Amino acid sequence: MMKKGRVFSGARPTGRQHLGNYLGAIRNYVALQDEYDCVYCVVDLHALTSLQETKALRVNTREMVLDWLAAGMDPEKSIIFVQSHVPQVTELHIILSMVTPMGWLTRLPTFKEKVRQQPDNVNYGLLGYAVLMAADITLYKADIVPVGEDQAPHLEFTREIVRRFNYHFGKVLVEPQIKLTEFPRVLGIDGVNKMSKTLNNHIEIASSPEEIRERVMRMVTDPQRRYRTDPGRPEVCNLFTLHGFFSPEQEKEIEAACRTAQIGCVECKAILAKNIAQAFAPFRERREALAAKPETVGDILADGAARARVIAEATLAEVKEAVALP
Ligand code: SF4
Repeated sequence: MMKKGRVFSGARPTGRQHLGNYLGAIRNYVALQDEYDCVYCVVDLHALTSLQETKALRVNTREMVLDWLAAGMDPEKSIIFVQSHVPQVTELHIILSMVTPMGWLTRLPTFKEKVRQQPDNVNYGLLGYAVLMAADITLYKADIVPVGEDQAPHLEFTREIVRRFNYHFGKVLVEPQIKLTEFPRVLGIDGVNKMSKTLNNHIEIASSPEEIRERVMRMVTDPQRRYRTDPGRPEVCNLFTLHGFFSPEQEKEIEAACRTAQIGCVECKAILAKNIAQAFAPFRERREALAAKPETVGDILADGAARARVIAEATLAEVKEAVALP
């Protein structure tokens, strides 16, 4: 089948993935593979902007890629690799930085947020983060980048850099299109914040059924439902949102039972825990099999980097020619 174009997406190496990562990104990565040429990158250089992460980079990369592969990201269909294994991205980053006005960078909401988050380490890399992201996307001549609505302005930044580069040096870079994708906001077990490892409110997809149950049992439900006999409000209960993903056939029944206090939260949690564990049973099996052959992840990433490098070298040669570097 003719593919519709090339998709690029990158993710920081955050180790074992949680339900939020899965529902928000991974299942979408898997679904895009049949329609598009997908290039999926572990953006380890981006992770260097906060220096605490560096010691865990290798293990986090391996754990994340194990999850990706077990979830169905297929190296036969997609290029899966690590950003720093294709160093051409750093050269393109420098070249693109020359067409990027400082004002564009300092105004970016993500930059401002990072400055707030790590005021003691406002490094040059943080400022150039968006330029490196533009280099990631343009190096592989991506036609399409899947993003959620809130991330669309970041991609617009890349499009502006491309327009500026092409205006000065000729039409060399591809202006990527935004593919608005539904990225559900998955809350953590605290029922308030987005699911996140930093907040330790997450459920890892590689967890055992017992671990899943232990976490689900701690989930915050409708805060107004104090007694078993109180009717519940599924629309404010994060647990019910997850039932939407993992218990689609029981969803309506659970909703009605909750509203009429026919079901208690403990029973409702037990159903969800069982369904999540069941949904990831084949995943856990594939992950175990992959982890049992330690060289597999390394081989897949080396092959991915070799394939990515072919595209990267060609783009960089065109860019250098256009800029007329001697
Ligand atoms: Fe939430 Fe289920 Fe309790 Fe209703 S019964 S409040 S959906 S946990």
